[in-house]
Amino acid sequence: MRAFFTERALLPTGWAANVRLEIAADGTLATITAQGSPHGAERLGGPLLPGMPNVHSHAFQRVMAGLTEAAGDPDDSFWTWRELMYRLVGRITPGQLQVIARQVYIEMLKAGYTSVAEFHYVHHQHDGRAYADPAELSRRISAAASASGIGLTLLPVLYSHAGFGGQPPSEGQRRFINGSEQYLRLQDRLAPLLAVEPAQRLGVCFHSLRAVTPAQIGDVLATIGVDCPVHIHIAEQQQEVDDCLAWSGLRPLQWLHEHVEVDRRWCLVHATHAQADEVGAIARSGAVVGLCPTTEANLGDGIFPAVAYLAQGGRLGIGSDSHVSLSVAEELRWLEYGQRLRDQRRNRLYRSDQPVVGRTLFDAAVSGGAQALGQPVGELALGKRADWLVLDGNDPYLATATGDGILNRWVFAGVDRQVRDVMVNGQWVVRQGRHADEEESAQAFAQALRELLA
Ligand code: ZN
Repeated sequence: MRAFFTERALLPTGWAANVRLEIAADGTLATITAQGSPHGAERLGGPLLPGMPNVHSHAFQRVMAGLTEAAGDPDDSFWTWRELMYRLVGRITPGQLQVIARQVYIEMLKAGYTSVAEFHYVHHQHDGRAYADPAELSRRISAAASASGIGLTLLPVLYSHAGFGGQPPSEGQRRFINGSEQYLRLQDRLAPLLAVEPAQRLGVCFHSLRAVTPAQIGDVLATIGVDCPVHIHIAEQQQEVDDCLAWSGLRPLQWLHEHVEVDRRWCLVHATHAQADEVGAIARSGAVVGLCPTTEANLGDGIFPAVAYLAQGGRLGIGSDSHVSLSVAEELRWLEYGQRLRDQRRNRLYRSDQPVVGRTLFDAAVSGGAQALGQPVGELALGKRADWLVLDGNDPYLATATGDGILNRWVFAGVDRQVRDVMVNGQWVVRQGRHADEEESAQAFAQALRELLA
């Protein structure tokens, strides 16, 4: 049993002082004692928080970050950005995908994300034929997560159609396309491979209501267990809402709630264009909304009605999605700032029993994130995986803050490198702001960038 001691830790019951934590050989928390003894324990270098799950990632899109910020078409939008993304995805090799994903996951760890849901939709060779092992690219994601040390919920994506009503896929989508049977075979192939990886699991994933038919949703849901995560992109774009209305007479979230039993297994990614009735339906379902504020801002998606949603007890997680930012603090900050900009008011996301915005945001995102990933994380509690982050106790802003003020200083006044140490599954993966493989990974990543952008 390894023991750790910290002067300040955020436990499920709130901030506690002089906390001793012991970790069992399997990486789970075995004892947690407030006002405990430091004897024989490793002293942590600052306030201790549960690690943040990242509910939405497309690792390869990190390559594009910062490359699409020059005006071309005056109507630049998500849809023109998507054309560029398709061009990039057409070129990536399995080796490059693994190099890129490892780099992204190392950057996530350094920011305080300790697990990630990878919404993985690139499955096939450049011409659309399956690899000799149809799980080739999924295995690359799993290997990248293992190498970095991050926890992974791998979400192989079912993507069959270009638009509502089963429209045939486009050329740019040929690496994504599976039918339901191929998809279920991919799941069967991956299940035993991930079962032997510590801190990795599988979920199911529908790209969007555009990309699958109602019958396919039914076929896949019929095969999964009661705790299997189910993720879907939904209502990210007004165009998608209009197309869904034209197809079915219902908006995407309305259609989903009327035709599928949405429950706690579901993560509704974006849900940006949600009306009042839809916000209430999601909150009542117990599903998690996967919000990606920096990507949604970058793509000009819109602003999710998070104030109304939280007021109804809605659950949420945060994702870095296209990875224009790999900062937990920035993702949380922009979740709040979007609401402020829309409402022309300050301090929007809080609960009646929790007025501190940074704390409300952090609590909501760790708890909803753990649910969306289907992993035993999200709080420093007995039996949970030892996934945590240590903020820098020498940082002047954090050293002079107390209680929830620590979270407000980090989220709203944060500077780089305030995340000092990060542990996943009882193993240190970041020490004093450094990951052991960061130089080698960065070099390999730079080489992949040169090749891809040539
Ligand atoms: Zn996405």
